[in-house]
Parts: sequence; structure tokens; C-alpha cells
Amino acid sequence: MHALIDTVPDAMVVIDGEGSIRSFSKGAEEMFGYGEADVQGENVSLLMPSPDRENHDRYIRRYLTTNEPHIIGIGRVTTARHRNGNTFPIKLSIGEIETAEGQGFVGYIRDLTESHATERELHTLQSELAHVSRISSMGSLATSLAHELNQPLTAVANYANAARDLLDEPGEENMALIREALEQCAAEALRAGQIVHRLRDFIKRGETERQIVSLRRIIQEAAALALMNGDGKGVDFETRLDASLDKVLVDPVQLQQVVLNLLRNALEAMLESPHRQLRVITTATEKAFVEVTVADSGPGLDSKIADHLFHPFKSTKSDGMGLGLSICHSIVQSHGGKIWVEPSDLGGTAFHFTVPLAETGNGDD
Ligand code: ADP
Repeated sequence: MHALIDTVPDAMVVIDGEGSIRSFSKGAEEMFGYGEADVQGENVSLLMPSPDRENHDRYIRRYLTTNEPHIIGIGRVTTARHRNGNTFPIKLSIGEIETAEGQGFVGYIRDLTESHATERELHTLQSELAHVSRISSMGSLATSLAHELNQPLTAVANYANAARDLLDEPGEENMALIREALEQCAAEALRAGQIVHRLRDFIKRGETERQIVSLRRIIQEAAALALMNGDGKGVDFETRLDASLDKVLVDPVQLQQVVLNLLRNALEAMLESPHRQLRVITTATEKAFVEVTVADSGPGLDSKIADHLFHPFKSTKSDGMGLGLSICHSIVQSHGGKIWVEPSDLGGTAFHFTVPLAETGNGDD
């Protein structure tokens, strides 16, 4: 088995459920500068830079208790640490294995230092994946939500109808039945509310996987996606990004979703506008945060929606789910930031949100 592993050009590292290294391929020895004997039994966090180095045990524990994959089976472009202390970019894929001694994990690592082309490719792929997962998770979310909500809502309607019919003969006995029907009605309505609440928790996903990334890159990728397929035709798109506010500490996929949602909304809002201008700016705000503004020259907010903008299922579009802004709100909030809306100096709407800056000098992106 080991001989076979050694023929794989990428590095391959097998760890047990405690995070201790069990097997370290030839490729891994070359990539990290350690011999297999040096690292056998050592914690795999040895191969990672901060903050993963300190947090890796927690990541494993979290996975083993929740079974909720953050990286397993997904793969990610991230960074690793060479024996000499250098940090280098890698593509990491992790699989799960069952061994005689219990559960373990196998990591495949590709060094991306030399491969700018591959890196670009991976980034495109990542953005596309984020996009696909947004659509497919929205799709399955909508289906399961419709299914789950149907039950309590049907019950609410049935109890309300029964209560109304019983009112035709308001005897003492019927009044007791009416009271009971209305109590059931309220209980079912609360249940429907809990389902929506669970959905919000699901979207928030508790902890986020924070990394230091370039805000410029996230905005540019999201813009490329939003303007694809001719959606940006005739739109005057401009970015004004402050280079000193570039490194942010965020979950990049989630942040990209926020920017993408806001850009898509702006483009949709401007479909009928004769003059279409879209601008993304970053500015300094309260300490340790950067403010991002997505401004459009569309018609501005519909007064019917303005008060409920960030609530789920509020939409003015015939085919709108009304989830976009509520997802943005959850993501920004889970990063400790704020999101709000103001009229834009371009004539339409301007969405503003804040995200945490990484400490300067820590950039690894
Ligand atoms: P959806 O796009 O599915 O309707 P969202 O939560 O993303 O859901 O948006 C909710 C509503 O907010 C939209 O239906 C629209 O009325 C309004 N809205 C969002 N962005 C803009 C914008 N840039 N200009 C005008 N209205 C907007």
C-alpha cells in the first residue's frame, strides 16, 4: 500500500481521529521537508500555518461530533507550512477512511506555488461551485421548506374553518370546541414559525470558516459571475477599491455570496432603466472593519418592501424567493458586521455592509 501511495505525485498524508500522522508519502516528504520518521505520530497541525495550526484539533472534533463537513469531500485552496517555516499555497482535498483502529482521514495536497495557471483555474472553479451550490441549496431548500410548511399551514386553515363553522351555533359546548380549535391554530402557526427559524439557523451554519483573503479578488470574482451571460450588457460597471483595506478575515465563499446577491439584485433592479450604472466602493469605517458599498442607478426601493427588506420571503419579483437579502444579513451578522441600505448618489439604491479587516502584515492571499 505504501509503495502505491509513493507513486502519487501529490503529497498524501493519513491521520487518525486524534489528528496524529500515521502515513506520510514520498511526495509529502519532498513538499514539506520532513521525513516520514520525523512526523510519524506528530499532530498534523505541524504542517499548517496559523490560525489553522491552533484550531485544527477543534475542526476534527467538530466534524466527529456534528458530522457536518466543512472541507471533507469539498476541497479547498489554502496554505501549508514547510519545515523551514515558509508558507506556500496548496489545493487540499480530504477524504474519510475507516481503519482497524477507528476513523481516520486522508489528505491529498497539491503545491500551487509554481502553477499560477492552475490557481486561476481553481479560483474560477471555486466561484462556479459557490454559484452552483447557491442555486442547488436554494432549490432544495425551497422544496423542503414548502413541504414542511405545508403541514402546519393546512392545519391552521382546517382549525380556522372548523372554528368559523362552529360559530353558527354558539352554544357553551361549541364555544369550548372553538377555543380548542383556536389554540391548536396558534400552536400550528408557531410551529410554522419554528421551521422558518430553523432555516435561518441552517443558513447561518453557526461557525464560519474564516481565512485571510483579498477583498478585491472576492469582489472581482463576484462581479465576473454577476456580469456573465450578458446580464451586464450596457451596464457601466466601476469599482473603487482602497488597496490599504484589502485583507479581510472572512469565510470567502459566504462573502462572495453576499457581493453576488447584491450585484444580482442591482442588475435586476436596473433592467428597465435607460441609464445603468453599477459601482462597488470600499471605504474605511469603524476600527478593524471595512465598508463595502454596492450602488446602482435603478428605480430605488419599492416602499412596500423597505421595512422588511432583510426578512426572508419578502420579494417584489414574481419569481423572487425573497431570500437573497436575508441570507446577506445572516452572513454579514455572523461576521460581526452590519448591513443597511440608503439612497444611492447614482439615483438608485446603495447597499452598505461591513466586514472585519485582517490585521495588517498577515496577508497570505
Ligand atoms: P429576491 O431578489 O428573491 O426578491 P431579495 O431578498 O434579494 O430577494 O430582495 C428582496 C427585494 O428587495 C426585491 O424583491 C426587491 O424588491 C428589493 N431590492 C433588492 N435589491 C434592490 C435594488 N438594488 N434596487 C431596488 N430594489 C431592490
